[in-house]
Amino acid sequence: DWILTGKEFVDKNDLSYPFEERGLQFGDGVYEVIRIYEGEYYLIDEHVERLYRSAAAIKIDVPFQKQELYAHLHELLNKNSVRNDATMYLQLTRGSAPRDHAFPLNTEANLYAYVKDFARDTDSLEEGASAITMEDIRWEWCYIKSLNLLPNVLAKQNAKELGAKEAILHKDGMVTEGSSSNIYLVREGKVYTHPATKRILGGCVRMKIEEFCKEADIPFIEEAFRIEDFKGADEVFMTSSTSEVQPLTKVDEVTIGDGRPGPVTRKLQASYEKDAGITGTA
Ligand code: PLP
Repeated sequence: DWILTGKEFVDKNDLSYPFEERGLQFGDGVYEVIRIYEGEYYLIDEHVERLYRSAAAIKIDVPFQKQELYAHLHELLNKNSVRNDATMYLQLTRGSAPRDHAFPLNTEANLYAYVKDFARDTDSLEEGASAITMEDIRWEWCYIKSLNLLPNVLAKQNAKELGAKEAILHKDGMVTEGSSSNIYLVREGKVYTHPATKRILGGCVRMKIEEFCKEADIPFIEEAFRIEDFKGADEVFMTSSTSEVQPLTKVDEVTIGDGRPGPVTRKLQASYEKDAGITGTA
């Protein structure tokens, strides 16, 4: 397997990481996960733009011009002969320097990226999945796709131990987003989701959901809702680059609607599949 590290491609087995790396020591960096269908990036522009935005928000200079980064990312797929469904993980840190909290001088950011096979979870997309709710204990700048994922890791582990696919996070009862996804509630044909403030990560798929809703005349309402609102919801779903448009048919002990993925979710799944050029589950 070929890994992109800085501006070079190296074999996975020849990769050695510097001891004092700010990503490892401080979580001082940002990342992206990009979906690949049949060897083609999906929403790459949105992800690249967000990477630059996240980096700028924490004052990291990306050591690539955008065009150069695109060229390298495409070469990464070619070198690995990626033809199937996969994900690309891309990480950018403030670099390697003797440990000190303040920014190091004259240190270039470290970028690395790799690709791995990733199959669609079609059963779960068709059948729906369950979620639990948990307090959102993260910091105030969740719009930055930061490497500091400990609260997200703990939330997802809790969900897993309770047999759920996702942990839905809330601040004082107001739903923000999932541990690694955006969350939506459907009621009377309208889609509600937390506004894209600093409290959530504005998902690339979330941007698409807004577009798909506009195309289908489905009101897309950026208004936070409360965990109690799940009781009166017709449908609930989550989105992310890895989970796509995932129906959530149970939240804590509440069965959503009739416990099956609902028509609005199915419609948005179909729009996603059409946009991504993939064969349907919806
Ligand atoms: N919110 C959080 C906290 C995430 O980690 C993610 C993605 O992993 C998302 C939302 C969805 O983002 P995207 O649609 O760009 O994958």
